[in-house]
Amino acid sequence: APATRDRLRIAIQKSGRLAEPARALLTACGLSWRESRDKLFCYGESLPIDLLLVRDDDIPGLIADGVCDFGVVGRNELDEQAGERARIGLPQAFREFRALGFGQCRLMLAVPDSWDWQGPQQLQGQRIATSYPAILAQWLQDQAIDASVVELSGSVEIAPRLGTADAICDLVSSGATLAANQLKPVETLLDSEAVLAGPSREFEDERAGLAAMLLRRIDGVLKLKDSKLLMFRAHRDMVAELSRLLPDADPLVQLPASGDGPLSLQTMCHGAITWQRLEELERAGAQGLMVLKVERSLA
Ligand code: ATP
Ligand code: MG
Repeated sequence: APATRDRLRIAIQKSGRLAEPARALLTACGLSWRESRDKLFCYGESLPIDLLLVRDDDIPGLIADGVCDFGVVGRNELDEQAGERARIGLPQAFREFRALGFGQCRLMLAVPDSWDWQGPQQLQGQRIATSYPAILAQWLQDQAIDASVVELSGSVEIAPRLGTADAICDLVSSGATLAANQLKPVETLLDSEAVLAGPSREFEDERAGLAAMLLRRIDGVLKLKDSKLLMFRAHRDMVAELSRLLPDADPLVQLPASGDGPLSLQTMCHGAITWQRLEELERAGAQGLMVLKVERSLA
């Protein structure tokens, strides 16, 4: 049985693409830490929630071993390691709890520019270089393609030029790296982003309550990410048209007002409120428009 603990431990990337946004998310959840000198472990000050700063590849294993309770890691890494565990017959020990909305990228199959892409069947008998052998092998199996997987830990995109592979399967965000290597993306194996990963098994000690609080706060932060409180005044007969212009907002709430002048209205809008949209609302009869940033909510 796992050791009982009364503090929660979250692993995040020490440095790299996910390091800063992961810290920012946890800070927005009200967590703060006393930095230790070696900076591998940060002791939680505001709450009994500590940070472990590690390489992203280590995060799923740390959760599986019970060294940490949660981690912020790319879905690509989590799924790959889950696939590898399944391949070697280990039970699933971690799972995705929340998609976090940053670190977006896609795991894609890319072939030389010169190929006339007809579909996955073209990969039959080819060699494909990747750092994601488990995800690729599963995809090839689903497509009933017999190809050989060449596992490389980095610089996958140069494999075709070096002659060690015919095609590659790698993470793509802008596609610039592929283009610079005369490759083109042709199939998407996985849509990835940073996720909060945690144990498959439930906590049976103090950590259960801390985990529930953390998840609730993360949900609060994620929900408000692009949300703004919109306030304005409008005459009663304009309200229907104004609501129509706010399809991404909660139903309009009427604030108590005296007399029979314009109504005071407010709503939480979940999409971007551009100047153009404000001007449109104004033309439709909204007066005194105000857009307010929302910091926290338990709604
Ligand atoms: P570490 O030293 O922690 O092992 P790393 O080099 O493996 O770092 P990064 O390059 O920082 O990791 O990428 C971390 C994660 O960021 C990836 O696993 C992926 O989920 C995400 N990501 C987003 N865009 C890209 C991209 N264009 N290339 C690679 N990863 C990306
Ligand atoms: Mg890594």
